Amino acid sequence: MTTTARAPLGAPARARFDVERVRADFPLLQQRVADGRPLVYLDNAATTQKPRQVIDAISRFYSEDNANIHRGVYDLCERATRLYEGSRIRTARFVNAGDDREIVFVRGTTEGVNLVAQSFCKPRLAAGDEVLVSAMEHHSNIVPWQLICGEKGARLRVIPMNERGELVLDGLDALLGPRTRMVAVGHVSNALGTINPVKEIVARAHAKGIPVLVDGAQALPHLRVDVRDLGCDFYAASGHKVFGPTGIGFLYGTLEHLEAMPPYQGGGDMIRSVSFAGTTYAPPPARFEAGTPNIAGAVGMAAALEYVAALDWEAVVAHEADLLAHATQALAAVPGLRIIGTAAEKVGVVSFVLEGAHAHDVGTIVDQDGVAVRTGHHCAQPVMEFFGIPATARASFAFYNTHAEVDALASAVARVREVLG
Ligand code: PLP
Repeated sequence: MTTTARAPLGAPARARFDVERVRADFPLLQQRVADGRPLVYLDNAATTQKPRQVIDAISRFYSEDNANIHRGVYDLCERATRLYEGSRIRTARFVNAGDDREIVFVRGTTEGVNLVAQSFCKPRLAAGDEVLVSAMEHHSNIVPWQLICGEKGARLRVIPMNERGELVLDGLDALLGPRTRMVAVGHVSNALGTINPVKEIVARAHAKGIPVLVDGAQALPHLRVDVRDLGCDFYAASGHKVFGPTGIGFLYGTLEHLEAMPPYQGGGDMIRSVSFAGTTYAPPPARFEAGTPNIAGAVGMAAALEYVAALDWEAVVAHEADLLAHATQALAAVPGLRIIGTAAEKVGVVSFVLEGAHAHDVGTIVDQDGVAVRTGHHCAQPVMEFFGIPATARASFAFYNTHAEVDALASAVARVREVLG
């Protein structure tokens, strides 16, 4: 895992993470709900809250800089274009891509995976070929591959996991067979919190010449991601999971792959020239950004990455590990509660079931105490099936969560069986 500090090397010993100072940047977290209790927002794996800096960047863009990009010669257009392309450079730097042309703006992780499935993988797929995913994937990293496998008569195969929710890699070399055309694996599981050893998976797949896409939706807010260190061919992520806006994300792809890929969608801005006799396409990344993109979204996402990059990352990592340890201990002490997903390497996600209570009841009852957790299958139905459960309640933390909020969660959950009688 790549969780190195963002602070400069040789910096003096750090103070504790100042969570209250950071919370002050997030207006939404200041609100009160449920009879005046403070909101305890623990659904960060679904979406994160936005700091003032992101909200202001979007507002400023629309107040001062809004114009369509790439198509005008007037100053405002050039300014908007500079902001959009500057966001690409910021994003490339954040994940240590070697070239900003390796960053394609998309709607989010889902679109990034679909783009790779349709444009990169499908043309290479024939009947009898295989695509390999893992047992803990989000539906967004399953269904796009099923669609192309179904179309081409190819087969989806699955890296298994164990009862702790860790991938079992003993049989990986056998799964990486002569017909494997692609590996697609999540960096961090949204349902379990498991951090997968993606660098090792990439190395083992590459040893056989098989390309790898990493679904980074849940990794970006918790881990320092370095796409070149991971060595992956593609890395997909969503802005809204990393304190940025919805409707924007990015796909990292090596220039070599992107240059060889046909367009994903046709339209404005992705062409070099168009005539009724035929069309030639722009080089990447424009080739994959047909139509007017989410310009303000890109600006907002870049502001979010800027915000995260400025945090003392070592302190963030320590704070989140502390929240996870505290939540695990406090929830495990609730009678009848079972934690689903106990991997040795985890981010701050605690999924659980409570004997005698449906997950939705848990969610509804803790909400009365102002505690927001997600309940359901978390778009990972195969994970639920593996554990033989229909749903879990899931608390997922961000760096702005506090010890006191974990305590509020634990006491709200402890109250559930009382309420249900
Ligand atoms: N992959 C994982 C692991 C996720 O957790 C999610 C969203 O929860 C996605 C993919 C899809 O992300 P989006 O809906 O932003 O495209």
